[in-house]
Amino acid sequence: MSRFLNDYGRAVGSGNLRQGTAAGGEFRPGDTVAAAGLAAKKNPLGVALMRSFVGGDVEAKVVLRLLTEMLTSKAYRAGEILGPASADLIASQVLSWHRSSACPECKGHGFRTAVGELGGTSRVVMGDTPCPACRGTAKRPFDALFPPERLELALWLREKVEAKQAAAVVEARRALRPDTP
Ligand SMILES: [Zn+2]
Repeated sequence: MSRFLNDYGRAVGSGNLRQGTAAGGEFRPGDTVAAAGLAAKKNPLGVALMRSFVGGDVEAKVVLRLLTEMLTSKAYRAGEILGPASADLIASQVLSWHRSSACPECKGHGFRTAVGELGGTSRVVMGDTPCPACRGTAKRPFDALFPPERLELALWLREKVEAKQAAAVVEARRALRPDTP
């Protein structure tokens, strides 16, 4: 997760946007929230995605509706028949994968983990063998969530979601530091 999303998530979670500084002391939590608000003017879907990514369930509903509409029109343009229930299902699978995409086996590290001894206490240690469950991608399987004939649409939507959210993070960071190009 990017530094901005971390700070933003903490700010949203704290419920107290005025006091204190984010870890590292760079921004007040309220600053990241204000920056996200500015970015939302340009990229409402991306910012709603970002909010849903850091735990906003209300935004997740809004995002789901937008994603379902995007899928429906994409399928229509491609001459595919996609009913509202299927569109909704694909969109919600893509969104829930996006909100929690870490491989459950290696917890998103990409390497095989084991419980080992370190300094007398047992803890999870990371090996250097790629995780067999995700083959080192650190993500939980995506393709298997969809019927083969819908996979192309699902991949298309995932790409849009990732690009929109990444753009929102860039825009919000820029709003925090207006002098950065
Ligand atoms: Zn894994």
